[in-house]
Amino acid sequence: MLRRLCVYCGSSNGAHPRYQRCAEEVGHLLALRRISLVYGAGNVGLMGTLANAVLTAGGEVVGVIPQLLVDLELAHSGLHEMHVVDTMHERKAMMAELADAFLALPGGIGTLEEIAEILTWKQLKIHHKPVGILNLDGYYDSLLSFLDLSVREGFLSLEHRQALLVDDQGERLVTRLAQACLPPTS
Ligand code: AMP
Repeated sequence: MLRRLCVYCGSSNGAHPRYQRCAEEVGHLLALRRISLVYGAGNVGLMGTLANAVLTAGGEVVGVIPQLLVDLELAHSGLHEMHVVDTMHERKAMMAELADAFLALPGGIGTLEEIAEILTWKQLKIHHKPVGILNLDGYYDSLLSFLDLSVREGFLSLEHRQALLVDDQGERLVTRLAQACLPPTS
């Protein structure tokens, strides 16, 4: 069951207002569906837009942030649950542990690193949770082309490529992630 969704996204806003609109829509949707947001606890860029949209719509937000970023005064102060950890590695591990599924919105190198890591962990069977990429207006086309090349060239299995859920609509993708979640064990 999808109770908590970990969302990776940019700490910048992007060059077009559609990116912030997208983060807002996803935030409202999560609140509406009573799915808690797990994210990196920043109050900047799409991360901040997303968290504020969830909060405004009455949803729950869980943040996980390393001390380093709190000290830079970028931590969101209005979250329901805030975990302050020592390192970026601990942050990513805790976000992965807390969430039932993962969703990437547009972002930069930090978002790319988080997508790559969570897919690698899935490939290694460290977790069995669904991972989705919101390919807003083709933003991730070149990454997806690279993954297809990697399959053709024998470095990535078709099974692992197909396990990645890709959609250009947030609502449909969240529905697909929810459907792909394992039923509760108890
Ligand atoms: P990027 O996609 O390069 O903007 O990076 C997004 C990632 O960078 C986040 O998931 C965080 O790991 C990290 N990050 C950068 N700035 C902040 C911030 N102000 N607060 C929290 N995390 C941040």
